[in-house]
Amino acid sequence: MYYAEPIARLIEELTKLPGIGPKTAQRLAFHILNLDRAAVESLARTMVEAREKVKYCSICCNLTDRDPCKICDDDSRDHSTICVVQEPRDVVAMEKTREYHGVYHVLHGALNPMEGVGIDDIRVKELIARLGDGKVQEVILCTNPNTEGETTAMYIARYIKPLGVKVTRIARGLPMGGDLEYADEVTLAKALEGRREI
Ligand SMILES: [Zn+2]
Repeated sequence: MYYAEPIARLIEELTKLPGIGPKTAQRLAFHILNLDRAAVESLARTMVEAREKVKYCSICCNLTDRDPCKICDDDSRDHSTICVVQEPRDVVAMEKTREYHGVYHVLHGALNPMEGVGIDDIRVKELIARLGDGKVQEVILCTNPNTEGETTAMYIARYIKPLGVKVTRIARGLPMGGDLEYADEVTLAKALEGRREI
């Protein structure tokens, strides 16, 4: 109503992005309008290129610009251990720890019966297919420590165990630097459950 039509359309498109409300969309739109033409073209081109070049790795289902991805193609990594995560950004988080040297499997979601996300909506079949040749010895379930993540981990564990593959779940516990009294009871109970000898 208040804006010239191209501006209104730009704001509308930006509002469709996750986490962008009308006010942020408005601010971004005016920022874009203030950029010179080359900067706007570069921004638009980068988005189109990323969308065109990034695909799913045919082995681990992570996002990649080459297939297999860099991690699956790396002989120095331990291909007998697969860390199962929900999203590509979880792979980045694990890599940042520099403690993990196995390979990954990205599910692209978690089971959520309430919202109609079933087993065929996430990449479980692809994971099972990787276990067929007997080379994988351990599957570490690193799905999120919430209802959906736990449900997914339990489902996958039940499916994989009969195949003779060791299945582990990341320990749940208190965040480092946290204070015991501020931890919620579920976290505290899980931390106690997962205690180990020192
Ligand atoms: Zn891969």
